[in-house]
Amino acid sequence: MDFTLTEAERDLVGLCREFARGEIARRAPAAWEEARCPTDLLREMGALGLLGMLIPERWGGIGMSTVGFVAAMEQLGLADQSVAAAWQAHVTIGSLPLYLFGSDDQRERWLRPLAEGRALGAFGLTEPDAGSDARGIRTRAVRRDGGWLISGEKAFISNAGTDMSFGVTLLARTESDEGAKPTFASFVVEKDTPGFTLGPKMRGIGWRGLDTRALYFDDVFVADDHLVGDPAMGLNQFLQTLEVGRISIAALSLSLTQAVLDLALDYARERVQFGQPISKFQAIQFKLADIATELEAARWLTYRAASLRDCGQPFLKEAAMAKLKASRLAVWAASEAVQIHGGLGYMLESPVARFYCDAKVLEIGEGTNEIQHLVVARELGC
Ligand SMILES: Cc1cc2nc3c(=O)[nH]c(=O)nc-3n(C[C@H](O)[C@H](O)[C@H](O)COP(=O)(O)OP(=O)(O)OC[C@H]3O[C@@H](n4cnc5c(N)ncnc54)[C@H](O)[C@@H]3O)c2cc1C
Repeated sequence: MDFTLTEAERDLVGLCREFARGEIARRAPAAWEEARCPTDLLREMGALGLLGMLIPERWGGIGMSTVGFVAAMEQLGLADQSVAAAWQAHVTIGSLPLYLFGSDDQRERWLRPLAEGRALGAFGLTEPDAGSDARGIRTRAVRRDGGWLISGEKAFISNAGTDMSFGVTLLARTESDEGAKPTFASFVVEKDTPGFTLGPKMRGIGWRGLDTRALYFDDVFVADDHLVGDPAMGLNQFLQTLEVGRISIAALSLSLTQAVLDLALDYARERVQFGQPISKFQAIQFKLADIATELEAARWLTYRAASLRDCGQPFLKEAAMAKLKASRLAVWAASEAVQIHGGLGYMLESPVARFYCDAKVLEIGEGTNEIQHLVVARELGC
C-alpha cells in the first residue's frame, strides 16, 4: 500500500492548509461561540472549488480522489470542526446521491450549483422514530397526477436551513398497498416548496456552527422529475452514500485527534510544575505517545478505505472499521488532551475544550459506532 499523494492532491492540501490557517482559524471560533453556521466561509471555500470535491468537472466539481478528500479534511478539520463538518456533509451525503443516482437533467439542475459552491446540499434520512433502523422511516410519498405528495418529518438534518441551502434529498416510503413489502424512494425537495417547513436550529454540545434541525413535510407536492434514481432502490442508494460518509467522519476524527495532540504537546512543553515542563513527566509523555501511535493506526485504516474506493473495490468493511477506530480515538484523545491542560483545558476559552465538545458526535453521526460494529461483524460472516 502506498498512500503517497499525487501532485494534484498535494496542491489541494496546500490550498486547504492556507485557507484553514488563514481564514477558518481566524473566523470560525466566533461562529462556534455564536452558534451560527459560517456560510461566508463556506461560500469562499466554494469559490476555491472545495465544495465540488468528489464531483467530476463535467458537473462543476474538481473530480478529486477520495484519498485527496481525506488529506484535505486533515487540514480543514485542524482549524475548526464545525466548518469541516458542514463541508464534509455537503461534499459526501449532501451531493453524492444526485451524482451517483440522478439523471443528467437532475445533475445539471441541482448538482452543478452544489459542486460549484453556489448552494449547500442536505441528506434527509433520520426521523424522530427511525435513526439506526432506517427501514423504520414513516415519511411517505404517494403518487398524485404527474408527481408525488410527501408527508412526514425528518430529524437532525444538517445544512438544510442556512441562507445557502438548496433544500434536501430525502428518503420516503412509497408502498401503497396495506401489508405490501416496504419500498423506499429518494426525492429532491427544494426550499420554498409549499408545505416544506424548517424547525429551529438545534443546539449541540459541539459542532455549534453546524446547522442541524428538523424538517417538516405537509402534503408537499413534487413533480416526477424530482424522483432520484430507481423508485424501488432509494434505501440502497442512501446506504451506499453513507459508506462514503463514514470515510469522511473517520477523516474528520483524524483531524480532531491531530489538533488536540498538537495543542497538548505545545502546552506540555510550556507548562512548568515542580520545576520542569510537564512534558518531562513520564505520565504525560505516555499519553502523548499513545495518542500519536493510535493516530497513525487510524490514519492508515482511513486512507486504506479511501484508496479502495478510488480503485473501485468494495470498501464497506474498511470504511466502518475506519469510522469506528478513528471516532473512538478522537473522543479518548480529546479527553486526554483536556487532562494534560488541567483546569485550563476545561474552560471554553481554551481551544482544546472546543475540540472536546466537538468530539462526541463523531461516535454518533452517519451510523453510530454500535452500527459500525454490526457492519463489521456482518462482513466477517457473523
Ligand atoms: C449533529 C448531528 C447531525 C446529523 N446530521 C444528519 C443529517 O444530515 N442527515 C440525517 O439523515 N441524519 C443526521 N443525523 C442523525 C444521525 O445520523 C443519527 O442520530 C444516528 O444515525 C443515530 O440515530 P438515532 O439518533 O435515532 O439513535 P438510535 O438509532 O435511536 O440509537 C440509540 C442508541 O441505540 C443504539 N442502537 C440502535 N440500534 C442498535 C442495534 N441494532 N444494536 C446495538 N445498538 C443499537 C445506537 O447505537 C445508540 O447508541 C445527525 C445527528 C447529529 C447528532
